[in-house]
Amino acid sequence: MAKNNPFLTAQKQIDLASKYLEIDHDLVEILKEPQRVVEVALPIRMDNGKIKIFRGFRSQHNNYRGPYKGGIRFHPDVNIDEIKALSVWMTFKCAAVGIPFGGAKGGIIVDPHKLSKAEKEKLTRAYVDKIFEFIGPYKDIPAPDVYTDGQIMSWILDEYNHISREHNPAVVTGKPVAVEGSLGRDTATSMGGVIVLDKLLKRIGIERDKASVAIQGFGNAGANVADILYHQGFKIVAVADSKGAIVSRNQIDPHALVEHKKKTGSVIGFESTRTVSTDEFLKLDVTVIIPAALENVFTAENADSVKAKVILELANGPSTIEADEIFHKKKILVIPDILANAGGVTVSYFEWAQNLSRDYWTLEKVESRLQEVMSSSFETIYEKSLQHSITMRVAAFVVAMERILSSINLRGNGN
Ligand code: NAD
Repeated sequence: MAKNNPFLTAQKQIDLASKYLEIDHDLVEILKEPQRVVEVALPIRMDNGKIKIFRGFRSQHNNYRGPYKGGIRFHPDVNIDEIKALSVWMTFKCAAVGIPFGGAKGGIIVDPHKLSKAEKEKLTRAYVDKIFEFIGPYKDIPAPDVYTDGQIMSWILDEYNHISREHNPAVVTGKPVAVEGSLGRDTATSMGGVIVLDKLLKRIGIERDKASVAIQGFGNAGANVADILYHQGFKIVAVADSKGAIVSRNQIDPHALVEHKKKTGSVIGFESTRTVSTDEFLKLDVTVIIPAALENVFTAENADSVKAKVILELANGPSTIEADEIFHKKKILVIPDILANAGGVTVSYFEWAQNLSRDYWTLEKVESRLQEVMSSSFETIYEKSLQHSITMRVAAFVVAMERILSSINLRGNGN
C-alpha cells in the first residue's frame, strides 16, 4: 500500500477523535468504510478514431444525515483509496458544518488537459451513464473538484436529464448560473475559508494588513482565495501551481497573475517574482500558508521546517497524521480541510435547495447564509478544541461524529 495512503489517514483521524466522544462508541466502526464503492470502465472513441478505456470510481461513504454528496475529480493520479478517503471527509465535512448531506466522491483516472473538448464531453457522459442508477437529487449529488468545472457539471446535468426524461437540476451542483447554478458558488470555497481564517486571526490577535500569505494551487480554490484576501488587505507573497512556485519580495496582484497564467499556462515567470522549489515554498516565513491543490503536501519529512503560523487547508487531505502531530507540538494552528473548505459544499447545498424549491436567491442572501454557517461552525469547533486541548481537526471530527452517530443511533444501523 502506498505511503501516506489517504484512506488510512482518514481512518486514523476517526480513531483519534473517537477518544473524545461523549456518546456511544461502538458504532464508530461503521464510519471507517464507505457503504458502497462503484468502479466503472469507460470506453471512449478518441478523436483519432481509436478506442481508449478509462477507469472511473464513485465512493458513497455514508448517507445517514442526507443524500450522498461530493465532487468528481479528473486527474491522472486518481486511485480508489484517494476517492474513498475523499468520500469519508465529505461525510465529516457536511456534519461538521451541519449541512444535511452524507458524503461521497468520484473520480476518473485521466489527464483532462490531454483531451479535446469533445473527448471530455464523451467521457463525462459515459461516466454518468455508468453510475446513473446510483446518483439523483435524493440519492447522490456530484459537484466539481480538481480539473472539473461548470462545463462538466452542465454535461452531467444534461446526460442525467436525457436518461431520466425529467428536468432534474438538483442532481448536480457547481453548475453555471445559466443552467440553474447558484450565485456565489464559484467563490464559495474560498469565501468560506476566508471567513474562518478571519475569525481565527482575531482570536490570536493577528491583523490582516500584517499577514503575509503563500498559496499552493491556483485553480478554483487557490485563485479565488488569493483574490478575496488581496482585496481584504492581506499580502500575497507566494503562489504555486502544478508547474512550479513563485515568490515576490513585494506583493502579488492575483488579478494580473490570472491573466499571466491564461497567457502562459502557469504562474512561472510572473513579473517581479523569482521561481523557487516546492520545498523552499513550503518553508517560507509567512503568516498563513494555504494548500489549495492536492493531498499529502505536509508530511513527516517537511512539517518540522514549516514556519507559517497558520495553515488554512482549502485542499482536502494536505496534512498527514505525522505532520499534524508536528504542527501541534510547534503550535502551528491548522484550520482543517473539513472546516476550511466547507464553504463549497455549503453553497452546493444552497444550490440544491434552490433547484428543488425553484426559488432563486440573491448573491447577498447566499453570502449572508454562508457567513452564518461558517462563523457558527468555527465557534463550535474552536471552543471544542479549547475544551479538550485538542487540534481543530480532532475537534471538527468530534463535532461531526457526534452528529452522525446521533443519527445512526436514532435511526438504527440497518441490521
Ligand atoms: P482546480 O482544478 O480548479 O485547481 C487545482 C490547482 O492545483 C491548479 O492550479 C493546479 O495547477 C494546482 N496543482 C495541481 N498539482 C499541483 C502540485 N503538485 N503543486 C502545486 N499545485 C498543483 O481544483 P480546485 O477545485 O481548486 O481544488 C483544489 C483543492 O481544493 C482540492 O483538494 C479540492 O478537493 C479542494 N476543494 C475544492 C472545492 C471546490 O469547490 N472547488 C471545494 C472543497 C475542496
